[in-house]
Amino acid sequence: MALTDAEVARYARQLLLPGMGEAAQEALRDARIRVTGGGLSVAPATYYLAAAGVGTLWFDDPDEVKPEAGAGFALGPDDLGRPRGAALAGFARWASGLVTADLFRPGSRPTALLVCGSSPDVSRAIADEARLLQLPHVVADVDGQGGAVTSVPVGSPCYSCATRPGLGGAPTADGGATVGSLAALELILLLTGASQEPRARRIEVFRGTPLVRATARQPGCACAGPVAAGLAP
Ligand SMILES: [Zn+2]
Repeated sequence: MALTDAEVARYARQLLLPGMGEAAQEALRDARIRVTGGGLSVAPATYYLAAAGVGTLWFDDPDEVKPEAGAGFALGPDDLGRPRGAALAGFARWASGLVTADLFRPGSRPTALLVCGSSPDVSRAIADEARLLQLPHVVADVDGQGGAVTSVPVGSPCYSCATRPGLGGAPTADGGATVGSLAALELILLLTGASQEPRARRIEVFRGTPLVRATARQPGCACAGPVAAGLAP
């Protein structure tokens, strides 16, 4: 469906960007993103996805808002004790009146995932689920020096193949902001097809400096199996 007059007015400047245009904006509008986890990257990523015009955001986060966990700048004192997914959905609606934001529910059929797990182990489990469902996904990891963003188009080297041990350390809010905004951009590029090669890549952020590298499949990894080749039912 073509963009409405309200959508054209809302995204007028973005429509002029190289690689964007009406077809790309429509792809964002038609996307349904399952946003998992409540790490420090999730709030900035939510803001940018909603503001860029992603049509539907479903939040999959069973925890409640706690002072020590938080979700960055999105949630305030009034949100303490609330289910974090519901609070993030409210934040997304605040960011854009054009987004549909709600909790992820069984039976929901996303078209892509954004994984903002609190640890690489948590993210790995969700990324593997996305791989088996043949859904493109982007994983945001935050650590004490910054973090990393891993883009996994369908059939590409998986998150486990792309990941290497980080430097560790307690995640920081500014690292979460950097990694979250980068993760949103990577997902937008995947959804619109505007990304340049390589599309399967990992951006590692160390004290504000990004390093981009193409990901490679590790020998023997399950992602080389029939699902990756598109042979699964
Ligand atoms: Zn793999």
